[in-house]
Amino acid sequence: MLRFVDTEQDYPAQRAAAERVRDFKEINALFGPEGDAEQAARCSQCGIPFCQIHCPLQNNIPDWLRLAAEGRLREAYEVSSATNNFPEICGRICPQDRLCEGNCVIENGFGSVTIGAVEKYITETAFAEGWVVAGQPKQETGRSIGIIGAGPAGLAAADMLRRKGHAVHIYDRYDRVGGLMIYGIPNFKLDKHVVQRREKLLRDAGVQFHLCAQVGDTITLEALRLGHDAVLIATGVYKARALEVANHNALPALDYLISSNKQGLGDDAPAISAEGKRVVVIGGGDTAMDCVRTAVRQGAASVTCLYRRDRANMPGSAHEVQNAEEEGVVFNWLSAPHAFHAAQVEVQRMRLTSTEMGGRQNAVAIPGDTYRIDADLVITALGFEPEDLPTLFNTPELVCTPHGTIAVDRNFQTALPGLFAAGDIVRGASLVVWAIKEGRDVAAAIHRYVMASKVKAA
Ligand code: FAD
Ligand code: SF4
Ligand code: SF4
Repeated sequence: MLRFVDTEQDYPAQRAAAERVRDFKEINALFGPEGDAEQAARCSQCGIPFCQIHCPLQNNIPDWLRLAAEGRLREAYEVSSATNNFPEICGRICPQDRLCEGNCVIENGFGSVTIGAVEKYITETAFAEGWVVAGQPKQETGRSIGIIGAGPAGLAAADMLRRKGHAVHIYDRYDRVGGLMIYGIPNFKLDKHVVQRREKLLRDAGVQFHLCAQVGDTITLEALRLGHDAVLIATGVYKARALEVANHNALPALDYLISSNKQGLGDDAPAISAEGKRVVVIGGGDTAMDCVRTAVRQGAASVTCLYRRDRANMPGSAHEVQNAEEEGVVFNWLSAPHAFHAAQVEVQRMRLTSTEMGGRQNAVAIPGDTYRIDADLVITALGFEPEDLPTLFNTPELVCTPHGTIAVDRNFQTALPGLFAAGDIVRGASLVVWAIKEGRDVAAAIHRYVMASKVKAA
């Protein structure tokens, strides 16, 4: 260990931009065994590991880095999977620069340990070697849990609850399992087979999926509460934040990404294609980056991203902005949409003022300073808000926060007994790693709840 003094930081190879824009395949390769061990050995085995403190799952990073450095990959996988249901997914799509790697103590001066890439290598090796198996329970408890939502929060909770011996039923309005991991995040960041591989393991463990089942429409929350000993709401947040410009014809980001993802999965759904179009994407987060990079791959004539602040104040991951730039996306900083004209967007120039509470600077319009850009397809990626669940579920007693997310106590229980909530619908739009963390925590709370109650389900 401690090899950071003589071993340079290195990441697995990334496909060249000119090649990767021609398809939707993942852009990062996997470490080889030597590269993995070499990079893991750069860790200085800190007594107080800041990487672990800043990982939402509190992964035992120094231990699995040491095991990986020693080539003890099976043990490394056991340690890493003890705190994370889907480490191969987090290794691919966590914004490591803001979490574990961004807080690695050797980051300043030497470059952080490449934790995410090592985590991905350990887990991919575990899959290749057959060490990843379905989490079969030792004994059935006779309790039944209903989970609304097959995103990472619902799936992590299902995995944990099934291992405890409960019957687990997941209801999802979509026709596929994975939530935003399947229909939001594009293949070039997270290939669908990685999510489907986990779905298979959950099915093998006995988790039952009820797809195309929209709670509040084809099935009621009341029926689920009557049929299960406890119910978890893990429905995520999907309402696109509105663009406050009159008469705009912009398309919400998720409509665009779902269409592209469905096409990639082989569906013949009516696709919204950017091919040959001058595309303008409004927003500066990771969803905006996914849209611009999807448009490039669909063969757009040009792709421009409008963001009202500057690069330093972008909410998205710096890596993703860099990837987009390499792939030919043009960024117009300090620019906000002002008006829509036939095949053109009129853009308002902005300037930055004082710093907000969150550390970012405010953007204000420079009066009279506008310009126009050509646009055949405009996409908005301004963030997501929760749907009005008490109305949708016909359950006015369900208490929400002022932001519309579901209010829960420290055990993730809502205002109604036996009804729990976790993931984005509680945190607001967040990250997969946080959804996994809450899925694990809510599963522990549900387990305690149902084991302390009389068996209800038939
Ligand atoms: P979701 O993943 O949203 O899953 C909720 C599920 O509930 C869905 O399957 C939905 O169909 C179902 N559902 C909703 N309502 C109902 C209903 N009434 N009845 C039945 N089912 C219902 N995070 C990262 O960490 N890294 C990234 O790179 C990243 N990229 C992203 C890119 C995009 C475009 C988007 C939109 C998000 C991205 N995120 C990323 C965020 C991440 O995907 C979410 O934080 C995470 O998926 C939330 O998990 P969840 O389980 O709470 O909800
Ligand atoms: Fe880093 Fe995410 Fe893995 Fe935690 S789960 S160690 S934050 S990549
Ligand atoms: Fe290793 Fe960096 Fe974590 Fe320290 S902070 S234990 S050097 S990965």
